Amino acid sequence: MAKITMKTPLVEMDGDEMTRIIWKMIKDILLTPYIDLNVDYYDLGLKHRNETNDQVTFDSAEATKKYGVAVKCATITPNAERMTEYDLKEMWRSPNGTIRAILDGTVFRTPILVNGITPFIPSWKKPICIARHAYGDVYKNSEMQVKGGSKAELCVTNPDGKEERKLIHDFKGDGVIQGMHNLDNSIESFARSCLNYALDVKQDVWFASKDTISKIYDHRFKDIFNEIFEAEYKEKFAEAGIEYFYTLIDDAVARVIRSEGGYIWACKNYDGDVMSDMIATAFGSLAMMTSVLVSPTGVYEYEAAHGTVQRHYYKHLKGEKTSTNSVATLFAWTGALRKRGELDNTPDLCDFADKLERATIQTIEDGVMTGDLELLSTLPNKQKVDTETFLVEINKRLQKLMA
Ligand code: NAP
Ligand code: MG
Repeated sequence: MAKITMKTPLVEMDGDEMTRIIWKMIKDILLTPYIDLNVDYYDLGLKHRNETNDQVTFDSAEATKKYGVAVKCATITPNAERMTEYDLKEMWRSPNGTIRAILDGTVFRTPILVNGITPFIPSWKKPICIARHAYGDVYKNSEMQVKGGSKAELCVTNPDGKEERKLIHDFKGDGVIQGMHNLDNSIESFARSCLNYALDVKQDVWFASKDTISKIYDHRFKDIFNEIFEAEYKEKFAEAGIEYFYTLIDDAVARVIRSEGGYIWACKNYDGDVMSDMIATAFGSLAMMTSVLVSPTGVYEYEAAHGTVQRHYYKHLKGEKTSTNSVATLFAWTGALRKRGELDNTPDLCDFADKLERATIQTIEDGVMTGDLELLSTLPNKQKVDTETFLVEINKRLQKLMA
């Protein structure tokens, strides 16, 4: 059978530890036998980031802007221990942070559902995708302890030098205060990323904040979303048969729990931080969570939501067999290949991505799975396999689908 060809390069960002091992296995076992891979390769492994003074991370993000689609392996974010382990010149910043800053994107996280692994919420039948705003609020705050008898005010010096003040509190006893901000630009990008992604995957968008209490701050988020939706998206949404709807965050939480799933839940920074852990856990496993960064201009970077699975890597280095789940990394590849196929108008590539996903889910539903899933699965005849065998089993099913 002739291999599938690719018109435009896909930006490939290699990574670290166990996920780097899995990355190569996925390419060798499941991709290169079927596709004439056309990639623009960047090695984001920590060793090479250190050698290039992290230039490679910047270059990979610029390439993503140029070509429009990237797939990224999990990477180490260095800490003190990694400084010695890798003999680093500097404590390089998180690659995800660097790439997100360059692409100005929003991260969408979606669980992969399979029979046998039931969400803790019985009504959930379809995935719930969380979109988290990744700028500002409490993450860029300024806070202080305040002594009793103090008066705390918000003070803004306008461009003309005039001061505007508002009382926060007249403190009778000791207490605390906090100042935070956000930017119209960033909220606009967030809104466009969410609304574009919704059109892409044909799902409703829910957005929620606490505008009844925060009548200026949270209300600004509500207004910006609404203005952008009305001006740029209303008709496109109607054509696609999907909806945008705004509600209060507490109402959203209640609705989410009672829902069937199958929509995008856009969250302010803090809400997204908390709710994405809740959603991942309630759906079953972090190793089954995919992640895609979407820029407001429509550039896509796909990855797994988990890290480099360091503990498994050390076992692997000792020559022991591991049973590491490759599903999220595999779905990062299929997501990127499908998007590349859509943009290039090469349906063979999209079809391949669909079949590879189907083969993966079929493998798990046939009872063949890695250790983490075996612990969760309710299937009667389940079998734990090692990292490589799992991919070989997927390939057996993929071969049949491709025949
Ligand atoms: P992690 O790699 O996500 O792993 C945490 C634990 O979760 C693992 O030890 C394992 O549990 C389980 N797990 C996660 N993914 C799994 C998979 N695919 N298959 C089976 N089990 C899985 O997080 P971490 O250990 O906190 O971080 C390791 C490194 O990853 C750090 O250097 C961090 O900077 C980096 N990181 C990168 C990204 C990214 O690039 N997007 C995200 C997060 C973390 P058991 O050991 O109990 O089996
Ligand atoms: Mg968190």
